[in-house]
Amino acid sequence: MLVAETTIKEALQKYFGFNSFKGQQEAVVKNVLDGHHSFVIMPTGGGKSLCYQLPALMMEGTAIVVSPLIALMKNQVDAIRSTYGDDSVAHFLNSSLNKSEIQRVKKDVEDGKTKLLYVAPESLNKQENLDFLLENKVSFFAIDEAHCISEWGHDFRPEYRKLRPMIDSIGDHIPIIALTATATPKVQQDIQKNLGMSDATLFKSSFNRDNLYYEVRPKVNVEKEIIRFVKSHQGKSGIVYCLSRKKVEEIAQLLQVNGINALPYHAGLDAGMRARHQDMFLMEEAEVIVATIAFGMGIDKPDVRFVIHHDIPKSLESYYQETGRAGRDGGEGVCVAFYSYKDIEKLEKFLYGKPVSEQEIGRQLLGEMVSYAETSVCRRKFVLHYFGEEYDETSCSNMCDNCANPREKYEGKEIVNLLLKTIDDLKEKHKAKYLVNLLAGKLTNEIATYKHDKIEWFAAGKEHSEAVWNAAIRQSVIKNLLYKEVENYGILRLTDAGREFMKNPQSFTMLKEHDYSGMDDEEITLNTKGGSGAADENLFAMLKDLRKKISKEKGVPPFVIFQDPSLEEMATQYPVNEEELTKISGVGQGKAGRYGKPFLQLIKTYVEENDIERPEDFVMKSVVNKSGLKVHIIMNIDRKMTLDAIAKAKGISMEEMLDEMESIVNSGTKLNIDYYLDEVMEEESQEEVFDYFSEAESDDIEEALKELGDSYSEEELRLMRIKFYSEMGN
Ligand code: ADP
Ligand code: MG
Ligand code: ZN
Repeated sequence: MLVAETTIKEALQKYFGFNSFKGQQEAVVKNVLDGHHSFVIMPTGGGKSLCYQLPALMMEGTAIVVSPLIALMKNQVDAIRSTYGDDSVAHFLNSSLNKSEIQRVKKDVEDGKTKLLYVAPESLNKQENLDFLLENKVSFFAIDEAHCISEWGHDFRPEYRKLRPMIDSIGDHIPIIALTATATPKVQQDIQKNLGMSDATLFKSSFNRDNLYYEVRPKVNVEKEIIRFVKSHQGKSGIVYCLSRKKVEEIAQLLQVNGINALPYHAGLDAGMRARHQDMFLMEEAEVIVATIAFGMGIDKPDVRFVIHHDIPKSLESYYQETGRAGRDGGEGVCVAFYSYKDIEKLEKFLYGKPVSEQEIGRQLLGEMVSYAETSVCRRKFVLHYFGEEYDETSCSNMCDNCANPREKYEGKEIVNLLLKTIDDLKEKHKAKYLVNLLAGKLTNEIATYKHDKIEWFAAGKEHSEAVWNAAIRQSVIKNLLYKEVENYGILRLTDAGREFMKNPQSFTMLKEHDYSGMDDEEITLNTKGGSGAADENLFAMLKDLRKKISKEKGVPPFVIFQDPSLEEMATQYPVNEEELTKISGVGQGKAGRYGKPFLQLIKTYVEENDIERPEDFVMKSVVNKSGLKVHIIMNIDRKMTLDAIAKAKGISMEEMLDEMESIVNSGTKLNIDYYLDEVMEEESQEEVFDYFSEAESDDIEEALKELGDSYSEEELRLMRIKFYSEMGN
């Protein structure tokens, strides 16, 4: 299938409302349209879904999308339906459907309406489903989260290994597109081999996520710091990862008692509660989820604004995966990890019981993690290097703590030399803690037992703090001058390089620890790109509220309706009709038609009430909130001037005057017009109308006229309604 570039771009604009492709999306889409196999490796948030959704919408037949989790499937189907504006376009087929729902799905596929059919591998394995697909036109197969194929991946699923024979039984030469965010070569080879697609075109993107801010903080006062951080990001979604279930419960509770809407999530909760908590997070009824790593795969929430690690994870790969859940939409994403070397030692202890080979791997991975946490180079450069990418740290633009706030360096040659000599002299028999106490001159029972308080090394380094000695040991391990015997519970031994260093000491750069205790969290937000990009924060907040309300009504997560970047753009461009709305990024015809109306209405009213000028090609926000006329009316009512006199002075009719007053009251300002009402209406009459409005089901004036007969004029009813709203509503 040969498709002109313009057609692909048009389809992108039409269906998704995006003006340009992200990264390699366009090349992938072309490759799929051309009927070739594709293998797509993109980081989380890179925009993988579009790589198969767009060609599926453009091609004849139904694309089969294999996805590992039912929850994930449902969200994706909701999202594409909302984008496209028609429910038949996408369905899922899994064990959660009843008979009649399955019939509906099959009918839509047969009628050629369904462009994307999401299936779990278990469902694909069923003969009746295979038979059904054999009889229908399948445009291509998309295997999402393809790393599930590999035992080396972080989420192995045995059923994924049976996909190839299933695909073969449905037809010959059906193109396959496999997608994953896992970067290691081992997993990549596994995927290609298992799917028999060594001839696939490989699309590997950079793993750089330039909207994410990375920071490692020393783990002191961690709970206080987390509360402070979350409070300074109130109203934003975030994830706090902890290593243990117990910690998850503790932190979730701690946040709750501090007035933060947080929920726990871990494998110890029953499935129903887990699903409920996940849903509440997606629906923005909970701001923060505190979780073990069990939480993540199902989370395609694009506007997670921060990911905090209460504990450092087991590998840099997990860390990157977990932080990758922040800022998928390209907006703000702050990633803060709390690090203490003690936690690493805890993780090392977990390795003791394991087979030697596994211990070896585990230790290597931990070592990388420590290096990352303690490095003084750009975090981004470090992590990308780990994934085999070169990166120039000048491009980081202060989007990591080390670039934004470089640590002070000092010469550590003498310190390290003293450390190594001590270890050597004591025959490499001691652990880090012992050596720190010894050198810093802290007399412990253990030191007394060994009578080491009598040797020359005792207090030989007392001019430096324990923290410095700890750092010297960790840095020496990182630089491979020392190694730790895990099987001997962490005894420190010299390496060849360490012995070489003692003979011929080299310059050794050490770093001062960051001191974050007195630092304002404000600074973090200031340092990051993004934030809300809206020009009009008020309108943005109102649009978000509206989105939340509609999301509740329709039972879909808010981001399925419009994503944050779209709302931000609306709060900058002020679109007031459907055509203008489709010009907003992320809003195609489908979405504009399905969800646009109430948003346009809100923006329109807002623009009118705030006297916002919207010139043809640029948008300007005027400063005044209340127009001069409104201010004039409020002031003169305060002075108890008669309403006719106020209207007359401003040259407006009584009708217009009432319109203005209603709009004032509706926007939350009280107007006390008793002085005027007492002149024009009897007390009993006032009471009757007031009671009517208190009990009526609507505030409609027509209704009121009908209900109360012709004893009142429209003007009187409207005045009473203004009084009613002033007293009750505001
Ligand atoms: P992945 O599956 O690779 O983690 P997704 O497919 O979930 O990523 O996409 C991540 C985010 O990027 C979504 O919010 C999506 O709407 C957005 N996105 C995808 N393609 C584009 C594009 N061409 N322009 C702007 N935003 C895009
Ligand atoms: Mg995805
Ligand atoms: Zn950096």
